[in-house]
Amino acid sequence: MSRAYNFCAGPATLPEAVLQQAREEMLDWRGTGMSVMEMSHRSDEFVQIAETAERDLRELAGISDDYAVLFMQGGASSQFATIPLNLLGEGGSADYVNTGIWSKKAIAEAKRYGNINVVASAEDSGFSSIPDVSAWQTSADASYLHYTPNETIGGLEFDFIPDSGSVPLVADMSSTMLSRPMDFSKFGLIYAGAQKNIGPSGLVVVIIRKDLLGKARRETPTMMNYQVIADNDSMYNTPATYSWYLAGLVFQWMKAQGGVEAMGAINARKAKKLYDFIDTNDFYANPIDPRFRSWMNVPFTLADDALNADFLKGADARGLLNLKGHRSVGGMRASIYNAMPEAGVDALVQYMAEFAKERG
Ligand SMILES: *Cc1c(COP(=O)(O)O)cnc(C)c1O
Repeated sequence: MSRAYNFCAGPATLPEAVLQQAREEMLDWRGTGMSVMEMSHRSDEFVQIAETAERDLRELAGISDDYAVLFMQGGASSQFATIPLNLLGEGGSADYVNTGIWSKKAIAEAKRYGNINVVASAEDSGFSSIPDVSAWQTSADASYLHYTPNETIGGLEFDFIPDSGSVPLVADMSSTMLSRPMDFSKFGLIYAGAQKNIGPSGLVVVIIRKDLLGKARRETPTMMNYQVIADNDSMYNTPATYSWYLAGLVFQWMKAQGGVEAMGAINARKAKKLYDFIDTNDFYANPIDPRFRSWMNVPFTLADDALNADFLKGADARGLLNLKGHRSVGGMRASIYNAMPEAGVDALVQYMAEFAKERG
């Protein structure tokens, strides 16, 4: 069977070259006679894999020594609790921006741990636009300002980094990390579940400015304490070794593609192709303010919902998989992360044009 184009939002398609390399190294990693999966995380071999992955990530994203890079577990969702436990302090408050379903989940979880102010919400626009920054009700004494640069489900993405002044800026970059160049020095903490642009699910990459370490509340579980994880090079317990290794292969693949600059140029082109087609074809629609359309997740509807099932069936038959929209939104969604080749977007646009012509 040949590889299909998989538009799943996550776990998402991985670069074919990475999967090939993992297959070649599966039984015997570079003459060790062991699979990476079978190695001690304390072995020289695995430590080398882990350190290389971190170095490559730092190089790709341009992350300075002022930051610790942590490879944690529990996905992005566990960070919704880990962040307030580490950064809120006793009786502290934090500011959150609500731009969609992932923001809401982060807000709901943080509320269990302290005083959370929703300083701006995209709700008034039906989550189709980013609320104007001049109206954000931020406070200068917040422990941090949290936002979601790309809402994976709604397809709403910031095209700027908010200025939080001296308040640490915290971002859930799960579905936009490494999709283009970004100035990470503007952030106090960023986190990304790996299964969109980085690797297998379960792994979560956390990049935290070192002055924010060591502030965890007393009751913080040891496994969630950033200081402990940093002090132990993300090996306080057994890390997700194979996922870490695969993430490392993805970073090497990205470097070979020309890094985030090259990825960003390809991603911009892919997104433009798809949105331009949707905008010029009466049969399809995308509800998001064009300025804030996601480069990675493109939701779209058909003129007649009764045709959704046929659309998906025809797509499947062509090897265009997982285009069904999130259950909370309906319609379709094409996730076009770094690993989705431009040819996949071309094949999708061609199919969409043919379907509209025949059935529209
Ligand atoms: C996928 C996603 C999550 C959840 O990630 P898990 O690893 O499943 O916890 C959180 N935030 C955003 C923006 C996402 O895209």
